Amino acid sequence: MSQSPSDPADIAQRRARILSRIAAAAKEARRDPSDVALVAVSKVQPEARIEAALDAGQRIFGENRVQEAQQRWAERRSAQPDLELRLIGPLQSNKTADAMALFDVIETLDRPKLARAIADAAARTGAAPRLYVQVNTGEEPQKAGITPPDADAFIAAVRDEYGLSVEGLMCIPPADEAAGPHFALLAQIARRNGVEKLSMGMSGDYETAVRLGATSVRVGEAFFGPRIVENA
Ligand SMILES: *Cc1c(COP(=O)(O)O)cnc(C)c1O
Repeated sequence: MSQSPSDPADIAQRRARILSRIAAAAKEARRDPSDVALVAVSKVQPEARIEAALDAGQRIFGENRVQEAQQRWAERRSAQPDLELRLIGPLQSNKTADAMALFDVIETLDRPKLARAIADAAARTGAAPRLYVQVNTGEEPQKAGITPPDADAFIAAVRDEYGLSVEGLMCIPPADEAAGPHFALLAQIARRNGVEKLSMGMSGDYETAVRLGATSVRVGEAFFGPRIVENA
């Protein structure tokens, strides 16, 4: 019987293939492959695949929703301290404290109200959250993120008004456009603002992102196989 891409046994292979492609793209760009982190996007994926990913040595995971992530990760989190969890979906300010309790990194800081909520929660708990500002590089109305013209002022406000450090920038390019120019724009905004890290690139374009400076790529379906909504 041939293995389907959703077979958990296949995940170690898929992961190895992605890591070797990341390494090849990094070398092409004269970058050190170890400067690029693979974030496995586990939203909606069944438990067996997540277990297979952990067995294969994967430790960094990305999730879109706070509640779904709590159910999936809270227990594993306490059992496995070397896990790193990243929130890559929109965050409502009233869920900020919950998000900060679970996630090591929040990649979707995109508005002053959320910066305020994070700063308040950080002051209360003493946490120093690792933060990425999400930039809506395509200026798409339906998409979250600060627009490129507003990015410099927002990054400055996050630092100076809210006293938070900005570890990186994150973007999700428009689905119907070449991603390269969006990645290059994000890198340019990061450079001129002295921001170090770049979260960019997904299943279809992570090699391009690595060539253009990604320090982490968020890979879902290429890693785990197609997302299947259970009980749908
Ligand atoms: C779902 C998601 C991904 C992963 O997408 P794939 O195409 O499955 O690799 C990456 N980033 C964000 C923000 C996502 O929501």
